Amino acid sequence: MSQYKTTIGLEIHAELKTRTKMFCSCLNDFLETRPNVNVCPVCLGHPGVMPTINRKAIEEVIKLGLALGGEILNHSRFDRKSYFYPDLPKGYQISQYELPLVKGGELSGVQVRRIHLEEDTARLLHEGNHSLVDFNRAGVPLIELVTEPVIDSALKALEFGKEVQLILRYLDISDADMEKGQMRVEANVSVAPAGHEELGTKVELKNINSFRAVKNALVHEIERQKELLEKGEKVIQETRGWNEVKGITVSQRGKEEAHDYRYLPEPDLPPMELTTPEVINLEELRRSLPELPEAKRERFKQEFNLPEKQTDVLIGDRYLAEYFEEAVSEFLALEENGKSKGIQLVANYLTSDLVGLLKESGARIQDTKATPENFAELVVLILKGDVSSRIAKVILREMAATGMDPNEIIGEKGLTQISDESEITNTVEKIINENRDAVESYKEGKTNSLQFLVGQVMAEAKGRANPQIVQEILKKIIEK
Ligand SMILES: [Zn+2]
Repeated sequence: MSQYKTTIGLEIHAELKTRTKMFCSCLNDFLETRPNVNVCPVCLGHPGVMPTINRKAIEEVIKLGLALGGEILNHSRFDRKSYFYPDLPKGYQISQYELPLVKGGELSGVQVRRIHLEEDTARLLHEGNHSLVDFNRAGVPLIELVTEPVIDSALKALEFGKEVQLILRYLDISDADMEKGQMRVEANVSVAPAGHEELGTKVELKNINSFRAVKNALVHEIERQKELLEKGEKVIQETRGWNEVKGITVSQRGKEEAHDYRYLPEPDLPPMELTTPEVINLEELRRSLPELPEAKRERFKQEFNLPEKQTDVLIGDRYLAEYFEEAVSEFLALEENGKSKGIQLVANYLTSDLVGLLKESGARIQDTKATPENFAELVVLILKGDVSSRIAKVILREMAATGMDPNEIIGEKGLTQISDESEITNTVEKIINENRDAVESYKEGKTNSLQFLVGQVMAEAKGRANPQIVQEILKKIIEK
């Protein structure tokens, strides 16, 4: 195939997690399972009702705009976007067209064109040959972030989407879970022969409900367009949906142009003046921004020098990253030696063991009873060889369940380490007798066999033997 240039622009929608809806005081409660309970005449679109603007939602979009270095427009406004669909009772959606709250900005090297605020539609549930409407979602504040068409691969689009999700979570303005529909990604894709100044024909991709689907749908669509061009055929400007089951994009309809929506300034809402601090205090919002993922990632690399994957796991959850830093600083307060080894142990036991325990119980790091201080104490015990890795896991599980400190747990559960040589020697001799093959292969130079034997002794001692001493005694007896 010849060389082609891919151009992708993304439109990302995310539901804000404000307490109430965008234009009425109904609760914005994602966890509500009963249909049509958080509704009122405003979000049901009854004639003659008046919307009011949710200030918190405005502030949250501005925070996102500030975080991405965008321009906050002094004069902004809501517009009506007219179209009919059963999930839109008013026959129009209140959105923003000419004067969005935020223009410009940048994230991970991708330029952002605009960020605006609108209301979400109701949810349609299709059952058999009929459909049901749940208006709990109607009027939930929804942000739309539009990038410039500057992304040149499916992978970069995926990475950008993930970074947007991360920043929404860091700002604590949206849970942004794609599988739950709290974040939705649409992509404009065009392919043109390399070297062409003009972009190819734009196809809009919808129905993308997971990050995996973002990548798969884009990869498929890029290939489809390349094949058409290769055959000398034309790409049609249209909207295509991603069919997850078949793994292909399918034509849905011709693409609407902006004028099809008959945008007009929303007559029931005043234009917004964001210049006076009494209305929206930009400086205060700027000061309230947390350290953002990009900056935190760079700082973690510099300060902790962990493997990249581990850094990513920590940065992937703002509260996990904060827990890690607290545990490290507690560790450094307790133990002056073994700094880098200690930091690595904190990261290991946090990202694999504690995170594993949290997953088991469906809890978040914010909810664990194991304090960073106790966590650091445990790492000191591990570092000094006072507990084996096996016992460390037992202690950690107990810490997470009860909030007790590790030394208390050791005392209460009788987990004190056995360092008594004669006691260990008895166990070692038993294991040597039971594992003659391993002993022989160690004698032949297979060092793995020694680790195997250490493991057997540790298992026999229920993890309580000092592994250092076990190894020494094993060697001594075998080599004798
Ligand atoms: Zn309402």
